[in-house]
Amino acid sequence: MALFNSTTARFPPAMSMSMNPRDRPSDPLSRLRFALETMPGSRKYVFTPATRAEILSELYDAFWGQYAHMFLPLSNSSLPMHATLSQVQAELGFAGAGAAEDPVIPGRPCGHIFTKGESCFRCKDCALDESCVLCNRCFRASSHENHNVSFFIAQQSGGCCDCGDPEAWRQSLQCPYHPVLQEAEELSHAALNTPDTTPRTAPRSISEAEIPPVPNFPFRAPCPPELRDIMGRTIGYALDFLLDTLDYSPDEPTIPDNEADLRLQPSADPMQKDQYCVILWNDDKHSFDEVIQLLCDTTNRDRKDATAIAHTVDEQGREIIDMNANAGRLLEIALIISKIELGVTVRRAYDTFREQVAMVIIEWLVDLTRSRLGADTLVTREVIAAELLSPRRRESNIYGSGPQIPDLSADVPGAARIDWLFLYHTRLWKKPRMCLKEIYASILTLSHPHKIAVGSHFAAVYHRVIDAYLLVDREAETSIKYFALQLFTVPSVASYVVRHHDLVTRLLNIIINFFTNQIAEKRILKNTTASTDAGELDVESFPFKSKRFMPVFSDLRYLCHNQPVQRLIASNVSFIHKFAKVCQLFMCVHPNKRAATSHVEYETDAWISVFNVTLSLSRVIKVYGEAFAWATPSQLINAITTVVLEIITVCTLSNDKLDKNKFSAPAFHSVAFGDVEYTIIEFDVLEEWVSFHHSLHWLLAELLKHVDILSEESLLQVGVASVRDLFMRISTEPMILTMIDFPLRVLSMVAQIRSGLWVRNGFPIRGQLLHYRDFMLRELCYDQDLFILQTSLIILDPNTVFVSILDRFGLLQFFCGSVVHPVYEGVQLSSMVEEVLYVIITLLTEKASASKMPLPAAVRREIIHALAPGPCSYTDLVKRVAERFVDDVCFEHVLADVAHFRAPESTSDT
Ligand SMILES: [Zn+2]
Ligand SMILES: [Zn+2]
Ligand SMILES: [Zn+2]
Repeated sequence: MALFNSTTARFPPAMSMSMNPRDRPSDPLSRLRFALETMPGSRKYVFTPATRAEILSELYDAFWGQYAHMFLPLSNSSLPMHATLSQVQAELGFAGAGAAEDPVIPGRPCGHIFTKGESCFRCKDCALDESCVLCNRCFRASSHENHNVSFFIAQQSGGCCDCGDPEAWRQSLQCPYHPVLQEAEELSHAALNTPDTTPRTAPRSISEAEIPPVPNFPFRAPCPPELRDIMGRTIGYALDFLLDTLDYSPDEPTIPDNEADLRLQPSADPMQKDQYCVILWNDDKHSFDEVIQLLCDTTNRDRKDATAIAHTVDEQGREIIDMNANAGRLLEIALIISKIELGVTVRRAYDTFREQVAMVIIEWLVDLTRSRLGADTLVTREVIAAELLSPRRRESNIYGSGPQIPDLSADVPGAARIDWLFLYHTRLWKKPRMCLKEIYASILTLSHPHKIAVGSHFAAVYHRVIDAYLLVDREAETSIKYFALQLFTVPSVASYVVRHHDLVTRLLNIIINFFTNQIAEKRILKNTTASTDAGELDVESFPFKSKRFMPVFSDLRYLCHNQPVQRLIASNVSFIHKFAKVCQLFMCVHPNKRAATSHVEYETDAWISVFNVTLSLSRVIKVYGEAFAWATPSQLINAITTVVLEIITVCTLSNDKLDKNKFSAPAFHSVAFGDVEYTIIEFDVLEEWVSFHHSLHWLLAELLKHVDILSEESLLQVGVASVRDLFMRISTEPMILTMIDFPLRVLSMVAQIRSGLWVRNGFPIRGQLLHYRDFMLRELCYDQDLFILQTSLIILDPNTVFVSILDRFGLLQFFCGSVVHPVYEGVQLSSMVEEVLYVIITLLTEKASASKMPLPAAVRREIIHALAPGPCSYTDLVKRVAERFVDDVCFEHVLADVAHFRAPESTSDT
């Protein structure tokens, strides 16, 4: 590689021409500042590879001042043009850079950052959850004999190897390169068991000053305080330049209506020069051919040029397709492009140029995260972290017009640069977004305090990130929202953000306000009270149709899955209060009424989005309920009481949750059965509205699975003799009957659908039934409803429950000897009898939930049941088993235990 002499390499002729040498400041940081500020004009807004090289060179010079020799071998006082520091260090083998084997440092995690296309390994047996991955080197070096191992190809850069992180693995991996320090492991386990504290309302993000230098690192190079200072100031300045630029960038691509509006667009240009760029943005909706053709048509390019641009847009996320002073013509081009809903912007060339500079800054920062100072591979990252976690030093731009700066002060008092970057992520395009993620990932692996700090800042702006993700972002795939996976699955981070940023409550509020469509100006309104009484659901509205909400539920699930968070949920009654409000919102949503005489004319597919939402919620219900395994008897009693009262309020129509046009207050009637009079609920499933969705009941079912906590002794302490007594103290028998009637109606509806009594309702009703009873999801809905009914046999007089079941199935008269039914005809009647017997047999014999069957036994039973009809392929098998069982680590081992695998003999063999 040819190395340039610093003086000739740094200032290409164009630069020296455009600049009066007397204006050039002498200290490197001022020089950098001067160069970046004057460049758009001096370069006539044309950004070339030489511009990039020049910016990089100024950045490095300012960064190391007179200490270049600490980053490069003595013989090289400067970097070659276009080269980056980490590349050069690796090529020259500087201070151990680029070595095949890094030195082994006990206590340091691997942290290898995956590049796109690299293979990543997962071990279900070793990993704490599915987010934990290993790089090739660590995977090969650790032992996974008889483990369930899979690998995948990284689709994006930015993930990192978790080897050596005691919070990521069930047991030490024994990777020879990344031994875990005994005390670190103990510390991480101790952190999991610390006593719980209540969540605080005032958020607290960790500042840079609170983070100690990374401990236990033997390769520290002496770093003069002056060097440390200029590294920090240069990075700080570069970050501020980046943020100052993004202040003016739009959140989403839109084009102004006319030339006057174009001129009024926010711009940092002190001259307000009429020079504009049209920029085409990437999306996942349009094909290459469409884009290429459009470019040929609108910009008079030949196919080859257009193809190159299309590829750049795909790889980088956007590209300038035209630049000149003819604003009218440029707007025309943009308008044509936007007609087919491609993202396009027209902005001042000055601002576009600055954004291109910002991209170089981001690339440079990525490079620094990979570079070393002598043998010290951490210090540059530490400095970047410190600057990211510090507030901006804002220099008000006195020339520009109307920057689009959101008000962060209410959410994050004293916001740090990283908060702004999270917020501005949507304003960037694919390439810089990926680079930023890589920078964040490289900081997470520095130390545990760094991880907590980044997590706390992410949590502080989380709801704004979600606003952008749900309501604004065109490129959801590279949204910073997905950073949550890396943070919320770490137990200590999850516990921190739940306690200090009240993130569970905030997520619940986001869900409530989003689905009740409390959205204004592309923001989900922020409600501090968890009241849902105001909001109403409209299943035909945007929130239900948007496909993006599911990851928001997943975030909640990741958080609540962590043991410290589970303990918090169990111990603090406000968690169940707030969650019950969310479940209440979706109670009895989208009910059905049997079409008795004529076919349903118009079939909407709203039921699909409704199922998507309630199934996402039911997965959260599962983990939320599981948290109560940690509850004390009185905590569990409180939770059950809360949920029961909430259900009764809804089911008796004491609040406005249920639509009074479809549901009415419970009515009772007296029936005689076997010489005894019973007073039970009066309800006809054939005539009235029934919904599949009873989120609160599902939550109650999950809570009731922990009744083993309620020993006789502990019940006596609160003054009741039994669980039955407990329920009678919470409410009354008629109310409990009302409560259980709702799941019972679903079971009866299911039986009727299966018996052909709902055929006129068409496909939607069959679709709903399939999802509700689907093997993979059954335990989230159908099984929960069955379990509620099963429990009611203990809480209430079982005879009353059985009579209610027969009545709801419309079979009371049949079982009294009347073999003719007014509605069920012929085979329908016998089918209904079969169905009710099936339900009763299940209620009496199914004991997995009631007896707390251990998971491996439950998995074993499920697999045997799934294979009982005969051999089937693995793919079919996992479809027949509840997803929770398939995901569990014991699944493959149990499968190997109970079944023989026969390899397929040909491609058609199943
Ligand atoms: Zn690794
Ligand atoms: Zn390793
Ligand atoms: Zn393993």
